[in-house]
Amino acid sequence: MISRFSNGYARLPDDFFTRVDPTPLPAPYLIDVNPDAMALLDMDVAASADPDFIAVFAGNRVPEGAKPVAMCYAGHQFGHYVPRLGDGRAILLGEVTNQRGEAWEVQLKGAGQTRYSRDGDGRAVLRSTIREYLCGEAMHGLGIPTTRALCIVGSDEEVYREQIETAAVLARLAPTHIRFGTFEYFFHSGQYRGVWELANWLLERHFQHVSGYRNPYVEMLREMVASTARLVARWQLVGFAHGVMNTDNMSVLGLTLDYGPFGFLDTYEPGFVCNHSDHQGRYAFDKQPQVALWNLSCLAQSMLPLLHPEDGDAAGALANEVLGDFEKVFMDAYIHGLRDKLGLVSEDGRDPVLFAELLKLMAANRADHTRFFRALSDFSSHDERARCAAGAEFADPFAFDAWAEHYRQRLRAEHSQDDARARAMKRVNPKYILRNYLAEQAIEKARQRDFSEIERLRRLLARPFDEQPGMDAYASSPPAWARGIEVSCSS
Ligand code: AMP
Ligand code: MG
Repeated sequence: MISRFSNGYARLPDDFFTRVDPTPLPAPYLIDVNPDAMALLDMDVAASADPDFIAVFAGNRVPEGAKPVAMCYAGHQFGHYVPRLGDGRAILLGEVTNQRGEAWEVQLKGAGQTRYSRDGDGRAVLRSTIREYLCGEAMHGLGIPTTRALCIVGSDEEVYREQIETAAVLARLAPTHIRFGTFEYFFHSGQYRGVWELANWLLERHFQHVSGYRNPYVEMLREMVASTARLVARWQLVGFAHGVMNTDNMSVLGLTLDYGPFGFLDTYEPGFVCNHSDHQGRYAFDKQPQVALWNLSCLAQSMLPLLHPEDGDAAGALANEVLGDFEKVFMDAYIHGLRDKLGLVSEDGRDPVLFAELLKLMAANRADHTRFFRALSDFSSHDERARCAAGAEFADPFAFDAWAEHYRQRLRAEHSQDDARARAMKRVNPKYILRNYLAEQAIEKARQRDFSEIERLRRLLARPFDEQPGMDAYASSPPAWARGIEVSCSS
Protein backbone atom coordinates (compact mmCIF):
# COMPACT_ATOMS: atom_id res chain seq x y z
CA MET A 1 0.00 0.00 0.00
CA ILE A 2 1.00 3.62 -0.35
CA SER A 3 3.34 4.40 2.44
CA ARG A 4 4.93 7.60 1.26
CA PHE A 5 2.42 10.18 2.42
CA SER A 6 3.71 13.64 3.16
CA ASN A 7 1.82 16.81 3.98
CA GLY A 8 2.87 19.90 2.09
CA TYR A 9 -0.43 21.70 2.62
CA ALA A 10 -0.65 20.84 6.29
CA ARG A 11 2.70 22.60 6.80
CA LEU A 12 0.97 25.92 6.09
CA PRO A 13 -0.11 27.89 9.19
CA ASP A 14 -3.02 26.56 11.24
CA ASP A 15 -5.64 28.92 9.86
CA PHE A 16 -5.37 27.30 6.41
CA PHE A 17 -7.09 24.10 7.50
CA THR A 18 -8.52 22.05 10.31
CA ARG A 19 -7.14 18.67 11.30
CA VAL A 20 -9.89 16.05 11.00
CA ASP A 21 -9.95 12.32 10.49
CA PRO A 22 -12.42 10.86 8.00
CA THR A 23 -15.61 9.39 9.47
CA PRO A 24 -15.61 5.62 8.88
CA LEU A 25 -17.93 4.41 6.14
CA PRO A 26 -19.92 1.34 7.27
CA ALA A 27 -19.28 -1.94 5.40
CA PRO A 28 -17.48 -0.36 2.43
CA TYR A 29 -17.04 -2.05 -0.94
CA LEU A 30 -15.01 -1.11 -3.98
CA ILE A 31 -17.05 0.24 -6.87
CA ASP A 32 -14.37 1.02 -9.42
CA VAL A 33 -10.69 1.74 -9.55
CA ASN A 34 -8.88 3.61 -12.31
CA PRO A 35 -5.56 2.05 -13.34
CA ASP A 36 -4.38 5.27 -15.06
CA ALA A 37 -4.68 7.27 -11.85
CA MET A 38 -3.25 4.40 -9.80
CA ALA A 39 -0.14 4.62 -11.99
CA LEU A 40 0.27 8.26 -10.94
CA LEU A 41 0.78 6.97 -7.41
CA ASP A 42 3.06 4.13 -8.65
CA MET A 43 0.35 1.63 -7.73
CA ASP A 44 -0.91 -1.32 -9.67
CA VAL A 45 -4.66 -2.07 -9.86
CA ALA A 46 -3.90 -5.36 -8.11
CA ALA A 47 -3.28 -3.31 -4.96
CA SER A 48 -6.99 -2.53 -4.84
CA ALA A 49 -7.76 -6.15 -3.94
CA ASP A 50 -6.07 -5.58 -0.58
CA PRO A 51 -8.71 -4.96 2.15
CA ASP A 52 -6.41 -2.28 3.42
CA PHE A 53 -6.90 -0.38 0.17
CA ILE A 54 -10.65 -0.20 0.67
CA ALA A 55 -10.17 0.75 4.31
CA VAL A 56 -7.92 3.67 3.36
CA PHE A 57 -10.10 4.96 0.52
CA ALA A 58 -13.33 4.55 2.48
CA GLY A 59 -11.76 6.77 5.10
CA ASN A 60 -11.75 3.94 7.65
CA ARG A 61 -8.02 3.81 8.19
CA VAL A 62 -5.64 6.75 8.07
CA PRO A 63 -2.56 5.61 6.19
CA GLU A 64 0.85 5.90 7.74
CA GLY A 65 2.37 9.35 7.42
CA ALA A 66 -0.93 10.99 6.43
CA LYS A 67 -2.21 13.92 8.45
CA PRO A 68 -5.78 14.47 7.19
CA VAL A 69 -7.12 18.03 6.98
CA ALA A 70 -10.09 19.97 5.65
CA MET A 71 -8.97 22.99 3.64
CA CYS A 72 -10.34 26.42 4.52
CA TYR A 73 -11.61 28.78 1.82
CA ALA A 74 -14.34 31.27 0.97
CA GLY A 75 -15.88 32.18 -2.38
CA HIS A 76 -18.37 34.01 -4.50
CA GLN A 77 -21.39 31.75 -4.96
CA PHE A 78 -23.73 32.92 -7.73
CA GLY A 79 -22.23 36.39 -7.39
CA HIS A 80 -22.53 36.66 -3.59
CA TYR A 81 -19.57 36.55 -1.30
CA VAL A 82 -19.67 33.77 1.31
CA PRO A 83 -16.96 34.51 3.89
CA ARG A 84 -16.35 30.96 4.92
CA LEU A 85 -16.93 27.75 3.03
CA GLY A 86 -14.07 25.28 3.25
CA ASP A 87 -14.12 21.54 2.66
CA GLY A 88 -17.38 20.47 4.23
CA ARG A 89 -17.05 16.88 3.10
CA ALA A 90 -13.70 16.53 1.36
CA ILE A 91 -10.72 15.52 3.43
CA LEU A 92 -7.16 15.86 2.21
CA LEU A 93 -5.14 12.84 3.29
CA GLY A 94 -1.84 14.32 2.19
CA GLU A 95 0.31 13.90 -0.86
CA VAL A 96 2.21 11.10 -2.53
CA THR A 97 5.32 11.77 -4.60
CA ASN A 98 5.78 9.27 -7.41
CA GLN A 99 8.98 7.99 -8.98
CA ARG A 100 8.86 10.78 -11.55
CA GLY A 101 8.99 13.26 -8.69
CA GLU A 102 5.38 14.45 -9.15
CA ALA A 103 3.54 15.17 -5.92
CA TRP A 104 -0.19 14.32 -6.00
CA GLU A 105 -2.59 15.45 -3.31
CA VAL A 106 -5.02 12.68 -2.39
CA GLN A 107 -8.43 13.89 -1.33
CA LEU A 108 -11.43 11.85 -0.17
CA LYS A 109 -14.70 13.50 -1.18
CA GLY A 110 -17.66 12.44 0.96
CA ALA A 111 -15.50 11.33 3.88
CA GLY A 112 -17.61 12.87 6.64
CA GLN A 113 -18.20 16.10 8.47
CA THR A 114 -15.60 18.76 9.11
CA ARG A 115 -15.57 22.11 10.84
CA TYR A 116 -16.82 23.58 7.54
CA SER A 117 -19.83 21.30 7.03
CA ARG A 118 -22.39 23.86 8.22
CA ASP A 119 -25.70 21.92 7.93
CA GLY A 120 -24.30 19.30 5.58
CA ASP A 121 -23.87 15.65 6.47
CA GLY A 122 -20.33 15.44 5.08
CA ARG A 123 -21.33 12.72 2.64
CA ALA A 124 -21.52 12.44 -1.13
CA VAL A 125 -24.12 10.29 -2.86
CA LEU A 126 -23.18 7.42 -5.16
CA ARG A 127 -24.81 9.22 -8.11
CA SER A 128 -22.61 12.31 -7.88
CA THR A 129 -19.40 10.39 -7.21
CA ILE A 130 -19.97 8.31 -10.36
CA ARG A 131 -20.51 11.49 -12.36
CA GLU A 132 -17.37 13.16 -11.03
CA TYR A 133 -15.29 9.98 -11.40
CA LEU A 134 -16.28 9.44 -15.02
CA CYS A 135 -16.14 13.08 -16.04
CA GLY A 136 -12.69 13.63 -14.55
CA GLU A 137 -11.36 10.78 -16.64
CA ALA A 138 -13.37 11.82 -19.71
CA MET A 139 -11.87 15.33 -19.51
CA HIS A 140 -8.40 13.88 -19.10
CA GLY A 141 -9.01 11.70 -22.16
CA LEU A 142 -9.97 14.82 -24.07
CA GLY A 143 -6.69 16.43 -23.03
CA ILE A 144 -8.41 19.03 -20.83
CA PRO A 145 -6.74 19.89 -17.50
CA THR A 146 -8.67 18.36 -14.60
CA THR A 147 -8.45 16.76 -11.20
CA ARG A 148 -8.05 12.99 -11.63
CA ALA A 149 -10.25 10.26 -10.23
CA LEU A 150 -8.64 7.31 -8.46
CA CYS A 151 -11.47 5.15 -7.17
CA ILE A 152 -14.95 5.02 -5.70
CA VAL A 153 -15.78 3.14 -2.52
CA GLY A 154 -19.48 2.63 -1.78
CA SER A 155 -21.60 1.69 1.19
CA ASP A 156 -25.24 0.94 1.90
CA GLU A 157 -25.32 3.82 4.38
CA GLU A 158 -28.35 5.94 3.64
CA VAL A 159 -28.00 9.59 2.73
CA TYR A 160 -30.95 11.97 2.55
CA ARG A 161 -31.26 14.28 -0.46
CA GLU A 162 -34.45 14.85 -2.53
CA GLN A 163 -34.81 11.12 -1.99
CA ILE A 164 -32.96 8.50 0.01
CA GLU A 165 -29.70 7.53 -1.67
CA THR A 166 -26.55 5.72 -0.59
CA ALA A 167 -23.16 7.14 0.36
CA ALA A 168 -19.89 6.78 -1.52
CA VAL A 169 -16.42 8.21 -1.24
CA LEU A 170 -14.52 9.45 -4.28
CA ALA A 171 -10.73 9.57 -4.11
CA ARG A 172 -9.40 12.31 -6.34
CA LEU A 173 -5.96 13.61 -7.15
CA ALA A 174 -4.55 17.00 -8.06
CA PRO A 175 -1.17 18.71 -7.78
CA THR A 176 -3.09 21.05 -5.47
CA HIS A 177 -6.76 21.63 -4.74
CA ILE A 178 -6.26 25.33 -3.87
CA ARG A 179 -9.02 27.55 -5.25
CA PHE A 180 -9.54 31.23 -6.06
CA GLY A 181 -11.62 31.20 -2.87
CA THR A 182 -8.57 30.34 -0.76
CA PHE A 183 -7.08 33.75 -1.60
CA GLU A 184 -10.45 35.40 -1.08
CA TYR A 185 -10.79 33.95 2.42
CA PHE A 186 -7.58 35.57 3.64
CA PHE A 187 -8.02 38.86 1.79
CA HIS A 188 -11.61 39.56 2.79
CA SER A 189 -11.01 38.66 6.42
CA GLY A 190 -8.16 41.16 6.48
CA GLN A 191 -5.52 38.47 7.06
CA TYR A 192 -3.00 39.81 4.55
CA ARG A 193 -0.28 37.73 6.09
CA GLY A 194 -2.24 34.66 4.96
CA VAL A 195 -2.40 36.05 1.43
CA TRP A 196 1.41 36.28 1.44
CA GLU A 197 1.89 32.85 2.95
CA LEU A 198 -0.44 31.27 0.41
CA ALA A 199 1.23 33.05 -2.49
CA ASN A 200 4.73 32.10 -1.35
CA TRP A 201 3.71 28.48 -0.84
CA LEU A 202 2.25 28.37 -4.37
CA LEU A 203 5.31 30.07 -5.86
CA GLU A 204 7.61 27.59 -4.23
CA ARG A 205 5.65 24.50 -5.16
CA HIS A 206 3.71 25.22 -8.36
CA PHE A 207 5.07 28.38 -9.96
CA GLN A 208 8.84 27.98 -9.52
CA HIS A 209 9.31 29.01 -13.16
CA VAL A 210 8.19 32.58 -12.41
CA SER A 211 9.92 32.94 -9.05
CA GLY A 212 12.92 34.67 -10.68
CA TYR A 213 10.85 37.58 -11.99
CA ARG A 214 11.17 41.01 -10.42
CA ASN A 215 7.54 40.75 -9.30
CA PRO A 216 6.79 37.03 -9.23
CA TYR A 217 3.29 37.61 -7.82
CA VAL A 218 2.25 39.55 -10.90
CA GLU A 219 3.59 36.76 -13.10
CA MET A 220 1.83 34.13 -11.02
CA LEU A 221 -1.47 35.95 -11.44
CA ARG A 222 -0.73 36.28 -15.15
CA GLU A 223 -0.34 32.51 -15.36
CA MET A 224 -3.59 31.94 -13.48
CA VAL A 225 -5.38 34.25 -15.91
CA ALA A 226 -3.87 32.50 -18.92
CA SER A 227 -4.45 28.93 -17.71
CA THR A 228 -8.07 29.74 -16.84
CA ALA A 229 -8.63 31.41 -20.22
CA ARG A 230 -7.19 28.40 -22.04
CA LEU A 231 -9.21 25.99 -19.88
CA VAL A 232 -12.51 27.70 -20.63
CA ALA A 233 -11.63 27.85 -24.35
CA ARG A 234 -11.22 24.07 -24.22
CA TRP A 235 -14.58 23.73 -22.49
CA GLN A 236 -16.27 25.79 -25.20
CA LEU A 237 -14.62 23.78 -27.98
CA VAL A 238 -15.78 20.46 -26.62
CA GLY A 239 -19.22 21.63 -25.45
CA PHE A 240 -18.71 21.28 -21.70
CA ALA A 241 -20.82 23.29 -19.26
CA HIS A 242 -19.45 23.28 -15.71
CA GLY A 243 -22.69 24.31 -14.07
CA VAL A 244 -21.39 25.93 -10.87
CA MET A 245 -18.56 28.31 -11.69
CA ASN A 246 -18.41 29.79 -8.22
CA THR A 247 -14.95 31.07 -7.26
CA ASP A 248 -14.61 28.27 -4.71
CA ASN A 249 -14.81 25.82 -7.62
CA MET A 250 -12.04 27.51 -9.65
CA SER A 251 -8.57 25.99 -9.46
CA VAL A 252 -5.51 28.25 -9.24
CA LEU A 253 -3.81 25.79 -11.61
CA GLY A 254 -6.52 26.08 -14.27
CA LEU A 255 -7.85 22.57 -13.68
CA THR A 256 -11.49 21.57 -14.09
CA LEU A 257 -12.50 21.20 -10.45
CA ASP A 258 -15.59 20.10 -8.52
CA TYR A 259 -17.91 18.36 -10.90
CA GLY A 260 -21.49 18.94 -9.85
CA PRO A 261 -24.43 19.43 -12.21
CA PHE A 262 -22.15 19.66 -15.27
CA GLY A 263 -23.29 18.68 -18.75
CA PHE A 264 -21.94 18.15 -22.23
CA LEU A 265 -24.00 19.69 -25.01
CA ASP A 266 -26.00 17.28 -27.07
CA THR A 267 -27.57 19.62 -29.63
CA TYR A 268 -25.64 22.86 -29.93
CA GLU A 269 -27.56 25.27 -27.76
CA PRO A 270 -25.43 28.30 -26.78
CA GLY A 271 -27.65 29.28 -23.85
CA PHE A 272 -27.69 25.75 -22.39
CA VAL A 273 -28.06 25.71 -18.58
CA CYS A 274 -27.24 22.33 -17.08
CA ASN A 275 -27.98 23.13 -13.44
CA HIS A 276 -31.72 23.21 -12.96
CA SER A 277 -31.35 25.39 -9.85
CA ASP A 278 -29.60 28.10 -11.90
CA HIS A 279 -32.81 29.97 -12.71
CA GLN A 280 -31.08 33.10 -14.00
CA GLY A 281 -28.81 31.13 -16.32
CA ARG A 282 -25.79 32.75 -14.69
CA TYR A 283 -23.66 29.75 -15.64
CA ALA A 284 -25.14 29.10 -19.09
CA PHE A 285 -22.72 27.51 -21.56
CA ASP A 286 -22.10 30.67 -23.57
CA LYS A 287 -21.55 32.79 -20.45
CA GLN A 288 -18.60 30.71 -19.23
CA PRO A 289 -15.84 32.91 -20.70
CA GLN A 290 -17.22 36.09 -19.14
CA VAL A 291 -17.85 34.33 -15.83
CA ALA A 292 -14.26 33.08 -15.82
CA LEU A 293 -13.05 36.65 -16.27
CA TRP A 294 -15.35 37.89 -13.50
CA ASN A 295 -14.01 35.16 -11.22
CA LEU A 296 -10.44 36.09 -12.11
CA SER A 297 -11.17 39.69 -11.16
CA CYS A 298 -12.26 38.43 -7.70
CA LEU A 299 -8.98 36.54 -7.51
CA ALA A 300 -6.95 39.55 -8.64
CA GLN A 301 -8.65 41.73 -6.03
CA SER A 302 -7.61 39.27 -3.34
CA MET A 303 -4.04 39.40 -4.59
CA LEU A 304 -3.82 43.20 -4.61
CA PRO A 305 -1.62 43.39 -1.47
CA LEU A 306 0.92 41.23 -3.30
CA LEU A 307 0.98 43.16 -6.53
CA HIS A 308 2.14 46.40 -4.99
CA PRO A 309 2.28 46.34 -1.19
CA GLU A 310 2.59 50.10 -0.68
CA ASP A 311 0.62 51.67 -3.48
CA GLY A 312 -3.00 50.62 -3.92
CA ASP A 313 -3.46 52.49 -7.21
CA ALA A 314 -0.38 50.89 -8.70
CA ALA A 315 -1.61 47.46 -7.54
CA GLY A 316 -4.98 48.09 -9.17
CA ALA A 317 -3.36 49.17 -12.42
CA LEU A 318 -1.23 46.01 -12.46
CA ALA A 319 -4.26 43.83 -11.77
CA ASN A 320 -6.17 45.45 -14.64
CA GLU A 321 -3.24 45.07 -16.97
CA VAL A 322 -2.98 41.35 -16.20
CA LEU A 323 -6.75 40.79 -16.44
CA GLY A 324 -6.50 42.48 -19.83
CA ASP A 325 -4.62 39.39 -21.09
CA PHE A 326 -7.72 37.25 -20.68
CA GLU A 327 -9.52 38.13 -23.86
CA LYS A 328 -6.54 37.68 -26.12
CA VAL A 329 -5.49 34.36 -24.57
CA PHE A 330 -9.06 33.09 -24.67
CA MET A 331 -9.70 34.19 -28.26
CA ASP A 332 -6.35 32.84 -29.50
CA ALA A 333 -7.05 29.47 -27.94
CA TYR A 334 -10.65 29.43 -29.09
CA ILE A 335 -10.05 30.52 -32.70
CA HIS A 336 -7.05 28.21 -32.95
CA GLY A 337 -9.18 25.39 -31.59
CA LEU A 338 -12.00 26.04 -34.05
CA ARG A 339 -9.49 26.07 -36.89
CA ASP A 340 -8.25 22.66 -35.73
CA LYS A 341 -11.81 21.38 -35.40
CA LEU A 342 -12.39 22.35 -39.05
CA GLY A 343 -9.06 20.90 -40.17
CA LEU A 344 -7.69 24.26 -41.35
CA VAL A 345 -3.96 24.81 -41.15
CA SER A 346 -3.47 28.36 -42.44
CA GLU A 347 -4.92 31.51 -40.95
CA ASP A 348 -7.39 33.65 -42.84
CA GLY A 349 -8.76 36.93 -41.59
CA ARG A 350 -12.27 35.87 -42.61
CA ASP A 351 -12.20 32.71 -40.47
CA PRO A 352 -14.06 34.24 -37.51
CA VAL A 353 -16.97 34.94 -39.89
CA LEU A 354 -16.89 31.40 -41.27
CA PHE A 355 -16.92 30.03 -37.69
CA ALA A 356 -19.65 32.35 -36.44
CA GLU A 357 -21.85 31.46 -39.43
CA LEU A 358 -21.39 27.78 -38.73
CA LEU A 359 -22.22 28.08 -35.04
CA LYS A 360 -25.29 30.16 -35.83
CA LEU A 361 -26.53 27.54 -38.28
CA MET A 362 -25.74 24.69 -35.88
CA ALA A 363 -27.86 26.37 -33.21
CA ALA A 364 -30.73 27.12 -35.60
CA ASN A 365 -30.65 23.55 -36.91
CA ARG A 366 -30.20 21.89 -33.54
CA ALA A 367 -27.15 20.02 -34.75
CA ASP A 368 -25.56 17.60 -32.31
CA HIS A 369 -22.30 19.33 -31.33
CA THR A 370 -20.10 16.25 -31.05
CA ARG A 371 -21.59 14.22 -33.89
CA PHE A 372 -21.48 17.18 -36.26
CA PHE A 373 -17.78 17.93 -35.93
CA ARG A 374 -16.84 14.27 -35.96
CA ALA A 375 -18.81 13.70 -39.15
CA LEU A 376 -17.32 16.82 -40.74
CA SER A 377 -13.94 15.05 -40.67
CA ASP A 378 -15.09 13.05 -43.69
CA PHE A 379 -16.05 16.08 -45.76
CA SER A 380 -14.96 15.99 -49.40
CA SER A 381 -13.17 19.11 -50.56
CA HIS A 382 -13.31 18.17 -54.25
CA ASP A 383 -16.65 16.45 -54.83
CA GLU A 384 -19.59 18.89 -54.59
CA ARG A 385 -22.12 16.07 -54.84
CA ALA A 386 -20.65 13.87 -52.11
CA ARG A 387 -23.04 13.87 -49.17
CA CYS A 388 -21.37 14.56 -45.87
CA ALA A 389 -22.89 12.90 -42.81
CA ALA A 390 -22.42 16.22 -40.99
CA GLY A 391 -25.30 17.63 -43.05
CA ALA A 392 -27.61 14.96 -41.65
CA GLU A 393 -27.12 16.49 -38.20
CA PHE A 394 -28.88 19.63 -39.42
CA ALA A 395 -32.67 19.93 -39.24
CA ASP A 396 -32.40 21.51 -42.70
CA PRO A 397 -29.55 19.83 -44.61
CA PHE A 398 -29.72 22.54 -47.32
CA ALA A 399 -28.63 25.08 -44.73
CA PHE A 400 -25.53 22.97 -44.24
CA ASP A 401 -24.87 22.79 -48.00
CA ALA A 402 -24.82 26.57 -48.29
CA TRP A 403 -22.20 26.91 -45.56
CA ALA A 404 -20.29 23.90 -46.86
CA GLU A 405 -19.67 25.69 -50.15
CA HIS A 406 -17.70 28.40 -48.32
CA TYR A 407 -15.88 25.76 -46.33
CA ARG A 408 -14.96 23.87 -49.52
CA GLN A 409 -13.53 27.03 -51.07
CA ARG A 410 -11.54 27.70 -47.93
CA LEU A 411 -10.13 24.13 -47.96
CA ARG A 412 -9.24 24.35 -51.64
CA ALA A 413 -7.49 27.67 -51.12
CA GLU A 414 -5.08 25.99 -48.75
CA HIS A 415 -4.78 22.83 -50.89
CA SER A 416 -6.13 20.70 -48.09
CA GLN A 417 -5.70 16.92 -48.53
CA ASP A 418 -8.86 15.08 -47.51
CA ASP A 419 -7.16 12.02 -45.96
CA ALA A 420 -4.63 13.93 -43.91
CA ARG A 421 -7.26 16.43 -42.80
CA ALA A 422 -9.67 13.68 -41.76
CA ARG A 423 -6.97 12.09 -39.61
CA ALA A 424 -6.04 15.40 -37.99
CA MET A 425 -9.69 16.32 -37.35
CA LYS A 426 -10.38 12.99 -35.67
CA ARG A 427 -7.63 13.75 -33.21
CA VAL A 428 -9.43 16.89 -32.01
CA ASN A 429 -13.12 16.13 -32.56
CA PRO A 430 -14.04 13.36 -30.12
CA LYS A 431 -16.34 10.55 -31.07
CA TYR A 432 -17.29 9.80 -27.46
CA ILE A 433 -18.24 12.22 -24.71
CA LEU A 434 -19.90 11.63 -21.34
CA ARG A 435 -23.46 12.42 -22.34
CA ASN A 436 -25.81 12.73 -19.41
CA TYR A 437 -27.82 9.73 -20.40
CA LEU A 438 -24.71 7.54 -20.51
CA ALA A 439 -23.79 8.59 -16.98
CA GLU A 440 -27.41 8.00 -15.99
CA GLN A 441 -27.33 4.42 -17.29
CA ALA A 442 -24.16 3.69 -15.32
CA ILE A 443 -25.76 5.17 -12.20
CA GLU A 444 -28.95 3.15 -12.62
CA LYS A 445 -27.00 -0.10 -12.94
CA ALA A 446 -24.78 0.79 -10.00
CA ARG A 447 -27.88 1.20 -7.85
CA GLN A 448 -28.62 -2.45 -8.69
CA ARG A 449 -25.06 -3.34 -7.62
CA ASP A 450 -23.83 -3.78 -11.17
CA PHE A 451 -20.73 -1.62 -11.61
CA SER A 452 -19.77 -2.90 -15.06
CA GLU A 453 -21.09 0.13 -16.92
CA ILE A 454 -18.86 2.46 -14.90
CA GLU A 455 -15.84 0.47 -15.98
CA ARG A 456 -17.03 0.31 -19.60
CA LEU A 457 -17.50 4.10 -19.75
CA ARG A 458 -14.20 4.77 -18.02
CA ARG A 459 -12.35 2.69 -20.62
CA LEU A 460 -14.31 4.16 -23.51
CA LEU A 461 -13.85 7.78 -22.46
CA ALA A 462 -10.14 7.41 -21.78
CA ARG A 463 -9.76 7.22 -25.60
CA PRO A 464 -12.50 9.50 -26.91
CA PHE A 465 -10.87 10.12 -30.29
CA ASP A 466 -10.37 6.47 -31.26
CA GLU A 467 -12.81 4.36 -33.21
CA GLN A 468 -13.71 1.60 -30.78
CA PRO A 469 -15.22 -1.52 -32.32
CA GLY A 470 -18.67 -2.43 -31.07
CA MET A 471 -19.10 0.89 -29.23
CA ASP A 472 -20.91 2.94 -31.90
CA ALA A 473 -24.11 3.02 -29.86
CA TYR A 474 -22.24 5.17 -27.31
CA ALA A 475 -21.69 7.80 -29.98
CA SER A 476 -25.34 8.16 -30.94
CA SER A 477 -27.52 11.12 -30.03
CA PRO A 478 -29.52 10.71 -26.84
CA PRO A 479 -32.62 8.53 -27.02
CA ALA A 480 -36.02 10.18 -26.54
CA TRP A 481 -36.29 9.11 -22.88
CA ALA A 482 -33.10 10.98 -22.05
CA ARG A 483 -34.12 14.40 -23.35
CA GLY A 484 -35.84 15.45 -20.16
CA ILE A 485 -33.10 14.42 -17.70
CA GLU A 486 -32.53 17.19 -15.21
CA VAL A 487 -29.40 17.40 -13.19
CA SER A 488 -29.88 18.34 -9.61
CA CYS A 489 -27.20 20.32 -7.85
CA SER A 490 -27.72 18.24 -4.71
CA SER A 491 -24.85 15.85 -4.50
P1 AMP B 1 -20.07 22.24 -3.95
O1 AMP B 1 -21.30 22.87 -4.52
O2 AMP B 1 -20.10 20.74 -3.94
O3 AMP B 1 -18.82 22.76 -4.57
O4 AMP B 1 -20.05 22.64 -2.40
C1 AMP B 1 -20.11 23.96 -1.91
C2 AMP B 1 -19.78 23.97 -0.44
O5 AMP B 1 -20.73 23.19 0.30
C3 AMP B 1 -18.41 23.39 -0.10
O6 AMP B 1 -17.92 24.11 0.99
C4 AMP B 1 -18.74 21.98 0.28
O7 AMP B 1 -17.78 21.41 1.12
C5 AMP B 1 -20.07 22.14 1.00
N1 AMP B 1 -20.91 20.92 0.93
C6 AMP B 1 -21.58 20.44 -0.15
N2 AMP B 1 -22.24 19.31 0.17
C7 AMP B 1 -21.99 19.05 1.47
C8 AMP B 1 -22.39 18.04 2.39
N3 AMP B 1 -23.19 17.04 2.02
N4 AMP B 1 -21.91 18.11 3.64
C9 AMP B 1 -21.12 19.11 4.04
N5 AMP B 1 -20.72 20.09 3.23
C10 AMP B 1 -21.13 20.09 1.97
MG1 MG C 1 -17.03 23.03 -4.46
